Amino acid sequence: MTSHFSRVAFTYDRTRYHPPEVSGRIATALTAPVEKLFRDPLFLEIGAGTGRIAVPIIARGYRYIALDNNPAMLEVLRQKVAGVARKARLVEADARELPFERASLHAVIAVHCWHLIEGWQQALQESLRVLRPGGFLFEGWDRSNGESEDWRIQQKWQEILAGLGYRLVRGRHQARLEEVERELVRYGLEPRSRIVADWVELRSPRTSLEMLLERIYSFTWAVPEEVFRPSVLELARWVEATYPDPDVEYPIHWQFVVRSSRVA
Ligand code: SAM
Repeated sequence: MTSHFSRVAFTYDRTRYHPPEVSGRIATALTAPVEKLFRDPLFLEIGAGTGRIAVPIIARGYRYIALDNNPAMLEVLRQKVAGVARKARLVEADARELPFERASLHAVIAVHCWHLIEGWQQALQESLRVLRPGGFLFEGWDRSNGESEDWRIQQKWQEILAGLGYRLVRGRHQARLEEVERELVRYGLEPRSRIVADWVELRSPRTSLEMLLERIYSFTWAVPEEVFRPSVLELARWVEATYPDPDVEYPIHWQFVVRSSRVA
């Protein structure tokens, strides 16, 4: 997994772009409840990646530890926070073995990472270990309603792959979120989800195609090269035949969900 993130570090932000006002709303949703209860709170984000969630919070002056096990992702983040990172620390470490004291942090944030961490149960235990009593575990994710042209292109690719005898596995992220929720309940926590932002992204069929071609999404990574290559060529032909102008943009309706759990 690490090597894939090294490859996509410089293009990652294209897959999960947040308009500035959305970043702001997410930052508020993650900081306001903590600030209400703790003075000068210390945040930790595990799997912080290129800092889509971290940067807006760091820019507001919070004490923030952005942790990731991939140096290339962290390097992109380092460049973004140069100059505003007064109270930020970037830590290269494994989320399953957090280099922090028990009960030393006020909030732990995990966005789009549980499904990518082998042994996520240990990372979850570690996140809970480092939280102070009353501290918050925040999980966050983007979701779209599956009614976009982007989705249609991804579905078409899945169909083409099936025609080539390859079954694409999707939905790992959602399945993992459900597993994590069950685990949180097992720990006696009461996770609560809410939508904290919604927005519309405009994306052209050409961009949707390129994002698959560049294997930016983790669901593309397992497809063997000998299947991947003919499948995307066929998809490119389909896109050309289906969209008279592949640069015309279509809407994707997004929401950002935050699930919060407070430790006793
Ligand atoms: N949270 C960021 C966001 O939403 O933009 C990045 C999400 S990215 C899909 C997942 C990140 O988790 C990657 O940067 C990857 O390197 C990191 N990651 C995967 N396994 C990890 C582990 N065991 N420990 C720390 N980070 C890990």
